[in-house]
Order: sequence, then C-alpha cells, then structure tokens
Amino acid sequence: MTAPVRRILVVEDEKAIRDAVGAYLEKEGFWVTPAADGQSALDEFGRHKFDAVVLDLNLPKLSGEEVCARIRDISDVPIMMLTAKGEVEDRIEGLELGADDYLVKPFSPRELVARVRALLRRAHVTEEPQREKLVYGPLEIDVAGHRAYRDGEEIDLTASEYKLLLTLARYPGRVYSRMELVEKVLGYDFEGYERTIDSHVKNLRAKLGDDPRHPTFIYTVHGVGYRFEASRSDSGQ
Ligand code: CA
Repeated sequence: MTAPVRRILVVEDEKAIRDAVGAYLEKEGFWVTPAADGQSALDEFGRHKFDAVVLDLNLPKLSGEEVCARIRDISDVPIMMLTAKGEVEDRIEGLELGADDYLVKPFSPRELVARVRALLRRAHVTEEPQREKLVYGPLEIDVAGHRAYRDGEEIDLTASEYKLLLTLARYPGRVYSRMELVEKVLGYDFEGYERTIDSHVKNLRAKLGDDPRHPTFIYTVHGVGYRFEASRSDSGQ
C-alpha cells in the first residue's frame, strides 16, 4: 500500500527529545516539522496542514494546554500530549482539553511511533462516514442500526450502554476519563457521575461477557477512566 507522506508537528522545548522524536518519526517515513515553543507551534500550524501533532505539556511562551486548546478551536487534527509530570490530574486535563492520547516521559521512541500510527489510523477511520459497522473480533456494532452483536447474537443494551460502547469502540486505544464519558453518554450535571459510569461499564462488561480482570474489550485505566481495545484478530495497519 502506498500511503501519502504524513506530516507531523513535533512541539518540544528540550532539544534532545525534539531531535530524537523527529529522527525516529523521519526514519519511519514521516515528514517532521519541529517547534521549540508554543508560539512557534501555532505559527507552524497556521502555515501547513498536519496529519498529527506531538505536543509537550510544559513549554515556554505558550503552554502545551494553551496550544492544544487553540488548535482544537480550529482543527480536529490528532494530538498526542507528552507529559513529564505523570500526574493523573495533568493527564485528565490534557484529555479534557482535547488531546487524543498522552505519553508520560520517559517514553521509548518506538512506543511514540506506534502511538502516532494508531492516532493516524483512528483519524483515518473517522474520515470514512460510509463505514457504518465496527467489527472487533466477535463484536460487531451496527452504527446506523444502533445495535451491537456478539458472535452474531444481538446484545440487549440500554441506550446508555450502547452509547458508552460506541463512544469507547469508535477510538480503540483512546483513554476516556470518567468525566468525558459522563458528558458523552449521560450529558452534563449528572450527580454521582463517576459511580454511574462505573456501573454502566460494569453492566456493559457483563453483557459483553468481558471479565474486568482479563478484559478483551474494555480496560480500566487506573485513576483515569476506561479505554476500548480492538481484539487481536483485528490486526494490520
Ligand atoms: Ca518541556
């Protein structure tokens, strides 16, 4: 398969990391534009069309949070946050600002490349509105029909459980905070939201036959929320 060259904006003030990330991505065939601070990141973003952004959280001039929010105002480009802090609060904040994924430093460049590829795949999937079915191994979601099937048998889901499943399964690998899931599944100002999401997840897992200790589909991300993983049979680029 011959793919067009993908252009990645790499925003990182630490030169050693910026160079290393850029070198790895270039070795993998990406076109890399480096930026050393938040303002030049936005300048570059206005100048070119990027397929993804790798964005450090702690930046001079404009913070990574600010850059992320400003990019989100104008674009749906996939954003990978880099955080040195590793604090749960910061990760949640990054995701709530609209980052699609995050990596905690120190990370291996191989992992970064793999995650960027995953982001690009997910972004590509959403560009195909005609794709109305999501199939992950034995699980099939009929998006147009608002139904889900396991091994061909319809799973009897409530409206909230279906929304939850679809939200998670649309972007395999993406971590959703409970707060995000509350917004997407239940709507705003819902009291006791965390436990509500947890109990929806519990019910959904039971209906999917998913063991929380050895999940096939829905994984708990400790201290943050949940993510969906595509079953292993759904491999390939
Ligand atoms: Ca930094």
